[in-house]
Amino acid sequence: MDLNYSPEDRAFRAEVRRWLEANVPKDELTTLEARKAWHRRLYEAGYVGMLWPKAYGGWGATPMQQAIVQDEMARIGAPPPINGLGIGFIGPTIIVHGTDWQKQRYLKKMLTAEEIWCQLYSEPNAGSDLASLKTRAEDQGDHFLVNGQKIWTSSGPIADWGILLARSDPKVAKHKGIACFLLHMRQPGVEVRPLRQITGHALFSEVFMTNARAETRDLIGRLDQGWAIAQTTLGYERGANSLGRVTRYAIAFHQLVRAAKELRRGGRPLLEDPVVRAKLGRAWAELEVQRYAGLRVLSALNKGEPPGAASSITKLSYTEFEKRYYETALEILGPWGQLMASREEFEEVDTSSGEPGTWATAFLWARAGTIYSGSSEIQKNIIGERVLGLPKEVRADRLKA
Ligand SMILES: Cc1cc2nc3c(=O)[nH]c(=O)nc-3n(C[C@H](O)[C@H](O)[C@H](O)COP(=O)(O)OP(=O)(O)OC[C@H]3O[C@@H](n4cnc5c(N)ncnc54)[C@H](O)[C@@H]3O)c2cc1C
Repeated sequence: MDLNYSPEDRAFRAEVRRWLEANVPKDELTTLEARKAWHRRLYEAGYVGMLWPKAYGGWGATPMQQAIVQDEMARIGAPPPINGLGIGFIGPTIIVHGTDWQKQRYLKKMLTAEEIWCQLYSEPNAGSDLASLKTRAEDQGDHFLVNGQKIWTSSGPIADWGILLARSDPKVAKHKGIACFLLHMRQPGVEVRPLRQITGHALFSEVFMTNARAETRDLIGRLDQGWAIAQTTLGYERGANSLGRVTRYAIAFHQLVRAAKELRRGGRPLLEDPVVRAKLGRAWAELEVQRYAGLRVLSALNKGEPPGAASSITKLSYTEFEKRYYETALEILGPWGQLMASREEFEEVDTSSGEPGTWATAFLWARAGTIYSGSSEIQKNIIGERVLGLPKEVRADRLKA
């Protein structure tokens, strides 16, 4: 691929930079309403839903333009848009599998964050083994009755709608009897209980469904197609464009170097310690690897290639890197890491009064990356089986032969 920016890309970058410099809010956005208002301005400027088709309220932009916007937003420290699950994964799933009615009804309001979305997939006993889910959806003619429990639902407390996986047929093989619905969260049969994390934030929740109602017109695809539809969502979730992240890491890196110049240990600046220098050198080298991995994804997206099983490689690589990266930062900063603010911004809206992010909270948040959207072990299984074509199970007797 060509790694140079074209004159059009450079002109676009200059335009985005000007717009952000003039419009990024000066004060922190502390309420959901303020986050929605900022989201709306970004949308109207053409910087949200950039890759979505114009017919559904998107902007039909190129993946390169989207990467430039993410890059410039990270550079200036702009608050991110909200409704990331909806716009990043659920909307694209509706575009691929939904009916015309569903597209017209839901997509535009998702883009403008008028309606916030969540993902109702995981259950207490169905995380990695998602196909074991027990939530039931029983056909009542014009609607389905939904009973069961979901967990780890990001944005649950503020969500208006959720994409739901539920068992429609318990008698067939577990992957076959699953249906996918769009569920209205603001109904009496749906109870959302926020989960408080070790950081004090409450970014996700438990959701209890007791005789909740899912309309038949809100079934996505066929009744037995839920598993295939879930793979579409997860493909988008894992294979997203990651260049904006790389810029965020790079900004954090420069912050870290500045701190290592200012902080002293044993009477000398940390940066003079050869161990600290070696750790910083390694972190920068890894960061560059991430940048090129991000460019590879961008190149595939530019060619219109859908995110398939190979998206697991990207997800595994950047989440494991992020964990090592913030571990290194805390090792270098020592106790300062508990106090110093980091630039990490959550896309999801915190519904508690959690403290603003420090390096220590960024470190804790980095642990989540190797769990959500399928843990690192699960990504390795997918890469082994579906990318490399390795056998699912290696039996001891076959190994001997
Ligand atoms: C920050 C965050 C946000 C999330 N948001 C959402 C959301 O919005 N909606 C939603 O539905 N879910 C969400 N999740 C849930 C997430 O998808 C699950 O946590 C994840 O799939 C793992 O499932 P589990 O927690 O049940 O762990 P388990 O599946 O119980 O796994 C426990 C451990 O066993 C390992 N393991 C399990 N099976 C295998 C295997 N076959 N081979 C090797 N190792 C294995 C796992 O890697 C892990 O280390 C979120 C999670 C996090 C951390």
